[in-house]
Amino acid sequence: MTQRIAEVTDQARPSEAKGLWKHTTHRRELITPLRTLLNEMAHGNRCCMYCGDDLSTDIDHFEPIAENPLRTFDWLNHLLSCTACNSSCKRDQFPRDPETGEPLLIDPTTEDPFEHLYLSLDTGLYTGLTEKGRQTERVCGLNRDALAEARCGARNGVVMCVDVWLSGRERGDQRRMAMAVQTIREQPFADVAQFMLHQALLPKASVAFAFDLGEETLRHLRNPELRAALLI
Ligand SMILES: [Zn+2]
Repeated sequence: MTQRIAEVTDQARPSEAKGLWKHTTHRRELITPLRTLLNEMAHGNRCCMYCGDDLSTDIDHFEPIAENPLRTFDWLNHLLSCTACNSSCKRDQFPRDPETGEPLLIDPTTEDPFEHLYLSLDTGLYTGLTEKGRQTERVCGLNRDALAEARCGARNGVVMCVDVWLSGRERGDQRRMAMAVQTIREQPFADVAQFMLHQALLPKASVAFAFDLGEETLRHLRNPELRAALLI
């Protein structure tokens, strides 16, 4: 496929690439198995690799087809995405640093988002720590109202599951402990639990955990046994 795209002129490549990508036969023979593979690799129940919401259906080109048609069929350029991130927010946007040309979008397959983004556990909103973080929040619409609300729900889910894990440990109930860990690991918006674990060891962690039951949860998230079970 890439060879076929390379054979046409520069100007014709985006439309050639889009045509091949949407071709009925290719969709059946290539795109469907590709989506199946991505579904298996995606965290939880087909969670979007940008926003973390579940039941994602789209394959997003990290580097858009319009930007680089030769990467249309590049496996490393394919991310499972929800329709909102793919079609309503990101679309063909791919900001680059005007001086270096480096992409100003976090690649969730190779980069740690928390080097670029800070999550308020109180509001569920992200703040960019770097230009790449700010552009990623803007391009992917990471602060959509529904996402912020859902992240607060995911935070509460972590708080409750930590309680269940602790009570399971007290009673020597391995099934209860395993269920609590599985729920945290598989719930949508896994970024919230990962952010909490990431922050818990930092000296100023109490700032991030300044929410109802936050202080208590922070103490538990420093427990090495629980951390070992939760860190993916
Ligand atoms: Zn999404």
